[in-house]
Amino acid sequence: MMIELRGAPVAAAISEKCRIKTEQLAAKGITPKLAIIRVGEKKDDISYEKNAVKRFSAVNAETETHILSEDVSQNEAEELILSLNSDRSVHGILILRPLPPQINEERIKRLIDPAKDADCMCYETLGELTASRDIGMAPCTPLAVMEILDHYGIELTGKKVTVVGRSSVVGLPLAVMLIKRNATVTVCHTKTLDLSRECSDADILIAAAGRAGIIGADCISEGQILIDVGINFKDGKICGDIDHDAAVLKAAAATPVPGGVGAVTTSVLLKQTVDSASKLC
Ligand code: NAP
Repeated sequence: MMIELRGAPVAAAISEKCRIKTEQLAAKGITPKLAIIRVGEKKDDISYEKNAVKRFSAVNAETETHILSEDVSQNEAEELILSLNSDRSVHGILILRPLPPQINEERIKRLIDPAKDADCMCYETLGELTASRDIGMAPCTPLAVMEILDHYGIELTGKKVTVVGRSSVVGLPLAVMLIKRNATVTVCHTKTLDLSRECSDADILIAAAGRAGIIGADCISEGQILIDVGINFKDGKICGDIDHDAAVLKAAAATPVPGGVGAVTTSVLLKQTVDSASKLC
């Protein structure tokens, strides 16, 4: 029978570690604080922000939200980032994306202080992730995947892992992290010739394409571990990239959608903010 790899216990374990670290920091007069920059009133952004605020306040860490209008100028956005960079009470900065078209996101990425880059947005943090031996700051979603694999004791060394998706926020950094953990990694994308072969060949299959049900029975093999990063809406319901019915028939274990990877990302955000508060103090 397929085991469900639920995100909630993983998030709870990360939060508990953060609670202990936050208490230790409080003894030194430091409260980890995340600054969230939100442009406009997008429903998804507000919901992510609410989850983050709840996660932080549960361990007595702080958040402050800066809401910018949809027609915010480049100057205004840059000034806010510069002021957060120099604000010693702020240890992490999260910018909810995508940003509106008048904003040059590349310039924003270069401006954010790498020491406070809680979602690994700037090039220096991404470069360090790729070049350094350890995994330091990383984008929250791929790091959430790694936390799930570790929490459930899924061995990576020597395993064949296929990642479907190569975006700079999910697929690519995830592939880097998996390679660092001694997995043999295949990365698939829209130009991959034989998706079903690349997927079914893997011990662990991670879907991050953003296409509902793209991973069907032909892609899944007996006893596989499936991690579904996708968040899609079909017939008014949230679903992942992996066909759930096909997964149940063949896989050894799989993350649900919702309740899998998405349930872990804000606790990773908390972890990175607490860690950067420890380093910056
Ligand atoms: P993205 O930037 O659109 O990238 C999608 C990637 O999937 C691209 O590399 C694309 O290939 C590949 N792809 C798309 N269709 C494919 C197909 N038919 N066959 C093979 N590869 C295909 O998306 P993203 O930002 O990485 O996000 C991916 C998914 O994760 C989305 O559903 C998003 O909502 C979800 N997500 C979830 C969380 C969470 O907390 N669970 C957080 C962030 C994102 P090309 O490079 O060739 O175009």
